[in-house]
Order: sequence, then structure tokens, then C-alpha cells
Amino acid sequence: MSSNRNAALNLFLSRPKMNLERENRKISDYFAENVFTDAKLRAYLSHEAYKAYHQRLEDGQKISRELADQIAAALKSWAMENGTTHYTHWFQPLTGSTAEKHDSFFTLSSSGQAMERFDGDALVQQEPDASSFPSGGLRATFEARGYTAWDPMSPAFIMDIAGSKTLCIPTVFISFTGEALDHKAPLLRSIEALDRAATGVARYFDRFVNKVTATLGWEQEYFLIDKAMYYARPDLMAGGRTIFGRGPAKGQQLEDHYFGAIPERVYAFMVDLETECHKLGIPVRTRHNEVAPSQFECAPMFETCNIAVDHNQLLMDLMDRVARRHHLIVLLHEKPFAGINGSGKHNNWSMSTDTGTNLLSPGKTPRNNLLFLTFFINTIKAVHDHADLLRACIASEGNDYRLGANEAPPAIISVFIGDYLSKVLDAIEKRAEGALNEEEEQDLKIDIHKMIPDVMLDNTDRNRTSPFAFTGNKFEFRAVGSSANCADAMMTLNMIVANQLSGFKEKVDKHIQDGEKKDTAILRELAVCIESSRNILFEGDNYSEAWEREAERRGLPNIQTTPDALDVYGTDKARKLFAAAGVMNEKELEARHEIYLEKYIKKVQIEVSLARELCLNQILPACLRYQTELMANLAASRDSGLSTETVGELITIVAENIDAVRKGLSELDDALGQAHEQPTTRERAQSYCKDVKPLLQNIRYHVDKLELFVEDRNWPLPKYREILFNR
Ligand code: ADP
Ligand code: MG
Repeated sequence: MSSNRNAALNLFLSRPKMNLERENRKISDYFAENVFTDAKLRAYLSHEAYKAYHQRLEDGQKISRELADQIAAALKSWAMENGTTHYTHWFQPLTGSTAEKHDSFFTLSSSGQAMERFDGDALVQQEPDASSFPSGGLRATFEARGYTAWDPMSPAFIMDIAGSKTLCIPTVFISFTGEALDHKAPLLRSIEALDRAATGVARYFDRFVNKVTATLGWEQEYFLIDKAMYYARPDLMAGGRTIFGRGPAKGQQLEDHYFGAIPERVYAFMVDLETECHKLGIPVRTRHNEVAPSQFECAPMFETCNIAVDHNQLLMDLMDRVARRHHLIVLLHEKPFAGINGSGKHNNWSMSTDTGTNLLSPGKTPRNNLLFLTFFINTIKAVHDHADLLRACIASEGNDYRLGANEAPPAIISVFIGDYLSKVLDAIEKRAEGALNEEEEQDLKIDIHKMIPDVMLDNTDRNRTSPFAFTGNKFEFRAVGSSANCADAMMTLNMIVANQLSGFKEKVDKHIQDGEKKDTAILRELAVCIESSRNILFEGDNYSEAWEREAERRGLPNIQTTPDALDVYGTDKARKLFAAAGVMNEKELEARHEIYLEKYIKKVQIEVSLARELCLNQILPACLRYQTELMANLAASRDSGLSTETVGELITIVAENIDAVRKGLSELDDALGQAHEQPTTRERAQSYCKDVKPLLQNIRYHVDKLELFVEDRNWPLPKYREILFNR
């Protein structure tokens, strides 16, 4: 057998049992022990400083230099007591992972005395060497540099890597003129926009509401494979997915993985990961198998949107690190294996008030139900009006394989709300169109109340195929890719809902000014929203072809590729919306569009190089060797007067596919040349998508054929069955 593949298999089979050093304390004893929580801040800070800090946060004011110095001193004391030597500004550049630049607390005083220092300046602002992060031309246009700025809403934490501890300070990454260069800055702005708009509307119902916070609970899917297999597959290593490979005889047809016991090795990994998560304050709670072999999921309790986004980024870092300790590799790519389900990251989203109300939770009284319906219907309307932006915010090269592959939500954005709520919307629409008198209004509210059962939360009326589903007390945005930063999806959702709510409030206020009663005005505007967003509601099977046809009839976009989906960022409608919400100005939006297109191009380029290299260095040589063996057999058979039919046929198949691969590679070169010559980034991305990618697919077809026909021991790459069924 091919030496790499053989070595990988032997390594895998000889893995020692992992002896887990179990944490034997209760989770609550060590939860967030590596986080500078609010309680710790209070303990390390003077009472006045602590109060001043919270006041500033509440008022959205800047933290003074003096206060920052005090907080820095508190952070340093805590961090050093816990054995920390370095600190870093931790941020989320558009490259897709997190970035850090470690500095030591250690320094020399002016008199040459060794000491540890960390002051307000170091806490508040840093200048990473930013030239290597994508900026879509922003830094070039404005300033040569970017800087990281402390996000006081997300607590600092200690990362323990190989026994060396670093204090990590969550930050946003912006240019010197204030343009966002990361995922977090626009997210924070969208959280503010939603707070402003939603608070205004929530006050119709409860005048004590002062703040509305977006909440997020993500569910992270991933594949877990043996490290040896990973290193024997250059495509997995460099591209995160197998660009060649035939599906195994036993794939996921039996769906026996989903309900099966978690394999012991995986279990050890999960327990280890959860312990690390808990120490860092990530409240993970559930773990289970997923549909595909070697696919799993973990999910936390929901948190405020900002913190949940940070925690998901942190989780992805941790997963990688912890898995390697167990000789495993986590694959976060949306589609690592063709023909087998890919991975997503469901984003459960809601809004909650500082008075403790979940705005998407059906209420116990008619009035509370009107509050719920107001936020529920406005969200639907926002999704209806800006489905193109929701499609764009989940677009990535990897997610293109998944959306619409009959396993994941399709590229068509629609909303599922279930039977009960469909009936409620019908009732409101029918009866609130005309003006309601007081009695009618009261009746309608009571009717609505009767129709929304208390058991909403446990209702089994769920549709697993919908990209955007209401699940009892939250919406679940399911089309997000597994490797994505949740920030983009959350930023978009917060922004479109904020925009919708402020428009809604303007109209309702106008009716009230004109003398209409508040609830009547609200009901009437809700009816308008329902009527104009009917198209986006779909209760059926989103995977079916019938839905594709139906969606087309309704005029809903079905955008299959990332370059097409991103086009929306170039429209006037999007520019105005982003600017009005204060989330991104025109230049920032343009830069982001450019960066995402470039990222797409790079991903395809990497796959092209991988395909070429794998074909030329491994696959074709192995196939030719096998062909030579067959030729020898043919000659011998002929000499002995035996039938040469079988061997002859095999030679033909192998030779034809070898030729097709070679031809495919040269066509690929031509297409690459053509793509490269396109004048704009957008056109280059389009060409990589439409001219280059189909050729890769064509080469794959022939390589996968060869995998079937070439003798197993000759095949150079670990096969799907070897990668996926590793217990
Ligand atoms: P599923 O059936 O899809 O597995 P669960 O009911 O277990 O879903 O919840 C999935 C996620 O939804 C969890 O992460 C949970 O914390 C989150 N969630 C629950 N309530 C809210 C909320 N109000 N806002 C945001 N996320 C929420
Ligand atoms: Mg879910």
C-alpha cells in the first residue's frame, strides 16, 4: 500500500487509550475561573471606580484615562496572581480566525530596574502590525495603520497554552480614521442600533424598559477525524476539505450515527473541551452526534450577542487545540466530504429587555402577546425586505457546497413560523385592515391570546429544513456556515430588524398623533407588515424541488454562489441601510465586499493548486503504476493464450480516466489564465466561480472513478471509509 496512507492507518490503529485528567470539582466551582468577571472587577477595584465604570458603560460614555489606569492595575494584579506573564489584544480580523500579538508585562524602568508594567494605555489601545490583515484598500486610502481598541463589554480572560499564561483583552480592530477592519466593530454598532430601535417600540408596552439586548445561542457542528489521516491528506490540511474521494459503501444512509453512543475517544475529547470552555466562562451544555459519521455538535446556553460571538470564536480556537492533544483534528469546513452532510452553525437569536422580558416569547396576557407579536412580525418583515442581505452574510466558498445541497437550508431565504402562529397572523391581517373600534380591538386581542397556547415552547411543530425558523421563543438562523464568525449574521439581523422597528415606530407614532389609540395603531401596522411579507413565509419542505419552483413563482431570489450573493453590497439600497443604521459607511461596505471576494478567489486558487499537486505527485503516478501492472498481465495472458477481455477493459477504463485528468488539468490552466486577466475583483471572482470551479469538479469525477478502478493497495490517499469510521 502507498506508504503515506499505510503509515497513517498504522498510526491510527496503534493510538494509545487517552487517559483523561479529569477535573473532579463541580463545574460551578471552576466556571469562569480564567475570566476577569464582573465580580472579580468589583473585588479588585475601589468601590468608587467600580461604580463609575458601570455608570459609563450604561450611559455609553468613554472610559477616562484615569479610570482605565485603575482597571488596568486591577487586571494586572489578578492576571499576575494567576501566573500570567504576557498580555495580548485579542481581535477578530476578516481573515476568519482570531489574532493576537503577545507583549510581556516585563519591562525595564528608566533606571534599568526589571519590573512588570501594564497601564491604561496598554489596556485601551494597541497597534498590531496590521499590514498583513485584509483591509480592502481601506488602510491604504486612509492611514497606513490600524489599531485595536478595548471592548469593555467583553471580559478579559487568561489563555493557558502549554503552561504559559496570557491575559487576552477582547478588542475591536479599526483604522486610525475609525473604519472597521474586523467583524466586531460593525457588530457592536448593530447591537446599539437594535437597542435604540427596539427600546422605542418596547416602551409602547412597558415604559420601564431602558435597554434591549440581542441574544445569541449558537449550535456548532464539526467533524472530528484522526490526526494521522489528516496529515496524509494534503487537501484537508491546506483546504479544510477533501477535493477528491469516493463516498464509502456505508455512508449515512442508515443514519445510525445520530442516535448511536458517542465513541470513547470522542467522548474524552468532548469532556476535555468542555472543561476548558467552562474555565473560560463559555457555558456549553449539550453535546451529541450529528447525522454524518464522525460529525458532532456542541451548544451553550445563550448569552448576549457580543459575548456569544466572542465565545464562539474562542470555542473554535479551543477545539483545534484540545483535539490535537487527543491526536484528533476538528474540521470546521462546511463541506469536508462530498456526498455526506456538511456542517452548519445554527444561530438562535432573540431580543431581551433590561426588565427581563424575552421579546420573542409569547406572553401570558393578551397585552404581552401583542408585545410578542409586534417583535415577531417586525422580524419577519425585516427578513422579507432584506432576504438578499441575509443571503449575503452567510455566503462563503465553503457554504456554497452546503446551501441547496438537499441537506441544509437552501439558498432561498424563507421563514417558518408553524401552524399556530400562521393562524394568528391570518386573523390579524383579516380583521385589523380596516379601523377597529375599541370592542373589536379587545376581541381581536383576546382571540389572538386564545390562539397562542401556553405550550408554544414545547410545540413539536418544527421544521428542520427551514433556513430561518421560529422555535418557540427565538428565531433560529440555520443557514450560517460552520466555520463562519457569527458576527456577520448577527450584525445583519440586528441591523435589518433595527431598521424595520424604527420605521414601524414612526408609522405607529403618526397614527397616535392623528388620534388613534395605541394598540389599534399597532395592530393596524402589524396587519400591513403581514400583508407585505406573506411571500417569505413557507411551512413546507425546503429541500424539495417543488419549493424551488414555488419560490421562483413568488419571486424569491435563489442565489447559488458567493460572488453573486455578495453583489447586494454594491446596491444603493444596502448602502443607505448600512449608513442609516450607523453600521458601516459606504467605504467600509465597499472594502468588505472586496475582501470577501478576494477571500473567495484565494480559496479557489488553493484548491486548484492542491488538485494539480495531488494529481501530478500522487494520483497519476499511482494510476500509471497500476496501468503498467495491468499491461504486464495483459502480455502474460496473451502469451498463455488466456482471455484478455477483463484486463483489457480495465486498462481502457484506467487509461481513459488518466487521460481525462491530464486534459482536465490543462483546461484548468487555461481557465486560470482567463480568470486572472479579468479587470475587477468582482469579475475575477465570477470567473473563478463559473469558469474554474466546474473544471475542478470535472477532474474530481475522473479521479473518483480511478479510485474505484485502481487496486486498493495502490491508492495513495486515505479513503473516506478510513477517515470517517475511526472509533
Ligand atoms: P435545538 O432543538 O435546535 O437543539 P434548543 O432548544 O436546545 O434547540 O436550543 C438551542 C439554542 O437556543 C441553545 O443554544 C439555547 O441557549 C438557545 N436559546 C434559547 N433561548 C434563547 C434566546 N432567548 N435567545 C437566543 N438563544 C436562545
Ligand atoms: Mg438548532
